[in-house]
Amino acid sequence: MHVLSAASFGPSQVMTITLQDFSGSPAPAGGIRRLTVPLVQLQATYGRLLRSGAKILGVTNGLTSTAAMPESGPAGSSAPVSPQPAQSSGKPANKPAGKAPAKAAHANVPVNLYKPKAPFVGKVISNDSLLKEGAIGRVNHVTMDLSGGDLRYVEGQSIGIIPDGLADNGKPHKIRLYSIASTRHGDNLAGDTVSLCVRQLQYEKDGERINGVCSTFLCDVPPGAPVKITGPVGKEMLLPEDEDANVIMLATGTGIAPMRAYLRRMFDPGERARNPGYAFRGKAWLFMGVPTTPNLLYEEEFQSYLSAYPDNFRYTKAISREQKNSEGGRMYIQHRVAEYADEIFNLINLDSTHLYMCGLRGMEPGIDEAMITAAAARGLEWKTLRPQLKKAGRWHVETY
Ligand code: NAP
Repeated sequence: MHVLSAASFGPSQVMTITLQDFSGSPAPAGGIRRLTVPLVQLQATYGRLLRSGAKILGVTNGLTSTAAMPESGPAGSSAPVSPQPAQSSGKPANKPAGKAPAKAAHANVPVNLYKPKAPFVGKVISNDSLLKEGAIGRVNHVTMDLSGGDLRYVEGQSIGIIPDGLADNGKPHKIRLYSIASTRHGDNLAGDTVSLCVRQLQYEKDGERINGVCSTFLCDVPPGAPVKITGPVGKEMLLPEDEDANVIMLATGTGIAPMRAYLRRMFDPGERARNPGYAFRGKAWLFMGVPTTPNLLYEEEFQSYLSAYPDNFRYTKAISREQKNSEGGRMYIQHRVAEYADEIFNLINLDSTHLYMCGLRGMEPGIDEAMITAAAARGLEWKTLRPQLKKAGRWHVETY
């Protein structure tokens, strides 16, 4: 288990790598070895050790020996994530609750670096539709340049956007929060961009079509235009540092945003090269709910992960207006969860498993129902288990 350190590291710094099973030389008693290297050589040494089959237990700043793994964060700085609680891998628990995580474990995750009164002004780099021909509505992937500022974030966080213009009361528009769809390194891996997945909100009111203020602003904003950004915020949806964790993801529509970031971190070749301390080896299982096939988001990326990592990535779709559930109605994500409830429950029973839910709140009751049935079949009560999972920091929900 590797954890990240929020400490800042100077170029003359030395680092201590603690490792086990180093195949390059005889292991000392207990199989634990410590290697001190200059910071500038850390990434190269780390990669070489991993390739040699060594199990890296941790990396610390200086000559001490507690576990902490620095990793390049945005703009090459040290990563802003703090250590997360250790979780055993693949070990069945008596009940679906892991070790309680200390809230303090996330204390170093960056929050509110830019506040509404003094937002960071980013610049749009690209703004492209994510939909295929025949899709319903408008969903865009918007990437913004963060260079020149200090807006750092990690996977699973959100940023605030202040749309241009004034509200009806003559005051500036309020902030709207959007889940970040990129990893901390950004889509270009340079660590100085952030991407969002935005659906244009449209609804009818008194026979009139209303466009959402901020979602329309974001879907229309052209490359080169400035955008006022606040945050980052949120610690509910952070990914565990455990490379052997199992990660179950349930997303409806643009609720895919954080999952897209997790999956890039896990499987994108460029990302993996940027994260020598995080070579995901667990199981990632994505459930994705969209109305039609052309509405599937980031499909090419997910298909490429399926090809490259068939043993680690599983992808189950609920295409509501094309597929039918067992009762003949629209196929929603909760119906897929009910189909696989036993498998999901067995996974949740491992204390290395985390479940993430993002999107429409309406999916929650159906997911609970499926888990109630799976728990009852084992003589267990979901109403007792769910709070335990939540307390253990393994049940992550961000629904609207
Ligand atoms: P969408 O494309 O309109 O819908 C996604 C899918 O969910 C569709 O297949 C839809 O089916 C289905 N659906 C509708 N009602 C459902 C229900 N009760 N249970 C399960 N599935 C249901 O989605 P979207 O416009 O992108 O929006 C997704 C939602 O996620 C929005 O409310 C957005 O605000 C929210 N969101 C939240 C976060 C966050 O919490 N951080 C981030 C991003 C988005 P049908 O349309 O065919 O009925």
